[in-house]
Amino acid sequence: MKLKILICGDVNGQFSALSSKLNTLVKKSGPFDMLFCVGNFFGEDEEENLSIEKNKHSFAVATYILGPSKKEHVKYYKDLMGYQLCENVTYLGRRGLFRGVSNLSVAFLSGVDQEASNPSSHHQFNADDIKSFEESITSQENFKGVDVFLTSQWPHDVDKYAISVNEAYDGSSLVSRLALTLKPRYHFSGLNNMNYERLPYRNHRILAEKSHHVTRFIALAHFNNTHKRKFLYAFSIDPIVTMDAAELSRQPDETTEAPYNKQVLFKQDGAKVEPTQQFFYSTSKTGDKRRSDGTRPPGTNFKKQMISQDICWFCLANPKVEKHLVISVGELCYLALAKGGLNDEHSLIIPINHHASSTTSPPEVINEIQVYKKSLTNFFKFNGKCVVFFERNYKTSHMQLQVVPLPERFESRLKEACLKFCKDQDIDLLELPAHSDLSQMLSPTSPYFCIELPDHQRFFFRVPKGFNINFGRMMLCQVSLLNQPEKIDWKNCQMSEDMEKKSCAKIREQFKTFDPFN
Ligand SMILES: [Zn+2]
Repeated sequence: MKLKILICGDVNGQFSALSSKLNTLVKKSGPFDMLFCVGNFFGEDEEENLSIEKNKHSFAVATYILGPSKKEHVKYYKDLMGYQLCENVTYLGRRGLFRGVSNLSVAFLSGVDQEASNPSSHHQFNADDIKSFEESITSQENFKGVDVFLTSQWPHDVDKYAISVNEAYDGSSLVSRLALTLKPRYHFSGLNNMNYERLPYRNHRILAEKSHHVTRFIALAHFNNTHKRKFLYAFSIDPIVTMDAAELSRQPDETTEAPYNKQVLFKQDGAKVEPTQQFFYSTSKTGDKRRSDGTRPPGTNFKKQMISQDICWFCLANPKVEKHLVISVGELCYLALAKGGLNDEHSLIIPINHHASSTTSPPEVINEIQVYKKSLTNFFKFNGKCVVFFERNYKTSHMQLQVVPLPERFESRLKEACLKFCKDQDIDLLELPAHSDLSQMLSPTSPYFCIELPDHQRFFFRVPKGFNINFGRMMLCQVSLLNQPEKIDWKNCQMSEDMEKKSCAKIREQFKTFDPFN
């Protein structure tokens, strides 16, 4: 049975107002199973603060609160390990996992990051606290994640890959790290007096790891704030333990990658991040048929229209992506065999999520593209080949970097052949200086073509009107290079699915020892 849950931002000691708000809500929408308060429960007014333990208020919903986030509030907590403050109001404790009779799993972390301040106070947590919390969680057999995660402080970097938070906010990397470990379905925070509802993010690497449920982060403003910002959030939920795996791991269309960087967050304490060895390649043409229904949680407003991952042929989350062409999957990019490639090893480096071009991809994605480029260059060199990379940001909505290995003997004539080809086409090829990138040369919306030669020289130009989308292939198929004009059209190079599978299996096997993500 679904549970009806309420979450409230910083109450700041407004207990009477909260009590009457709950009465109104219950009258209007019926009973709620629980109310969780994040941020400061106590406020400035000493008398009001003390009124709670004198049982002066009645709360219509079973209420659970977090510990102090300020030094001056520590004194209002009689037992920092957790206790009942008054009828229907329970302080959960400093950190832990709470599982009520309802089976709802609620992880909570009270206080704020100690950061550099020393010594620590009762309203703070530090890296050791987080580590021991993580150990207690991960030692549980078959830990799948928690339903709800409550923190007063926001996680650091939460708006990465999503709509930016309008104002500067105070976030903790330790909270981000804990969120990665706990895999909450909902993560709520307070303190910053802002309402921010992030697009859901995924808790697994697509294809490289088993599918998990997504996390929705929601920050709430202060109770009854003057800006009229949202401070209450109501939702209903089936506890994780009662759900079947398929239902649970359904990915809404707007799902983004996780905003927190596992490698960085877990490196800080020398903890070892296990690389994932296992791959879940699908060999069927259509792949996983499970579709997301795109439903949104109640009260969630998505301000930005995102491209549906279900309709883009290059978004790896699209179940229709031809997964038998996938050679390798990284954290943010993947490598796939080109359909109708110029040769058996013609591949594509593609961002996992929907990014239009290298001029609009986040720096982390660009870095990973570099990592792939480097390992591919080494791989082909080992096999007596040189590589040409090219990208066309024109009539394409999802970035693809073409990777074309060529016989090593081409290396010395490539530059001249390419320059001449462009000149013949009346195209002014510009050299991209070393250590600079395209986004410095072009506006994000500029359509362009860019090519990188084996000696790492890079050339680009803004594409003119009526540009031929096969330009890159034409360049390499010309008489002085491949001399195979029939290969300009990819359709002439298309292989049967069986052949594609064979080619892909072959290159996957050979590339293995060079694959940075293997
Ligand atoms: Zn896409």
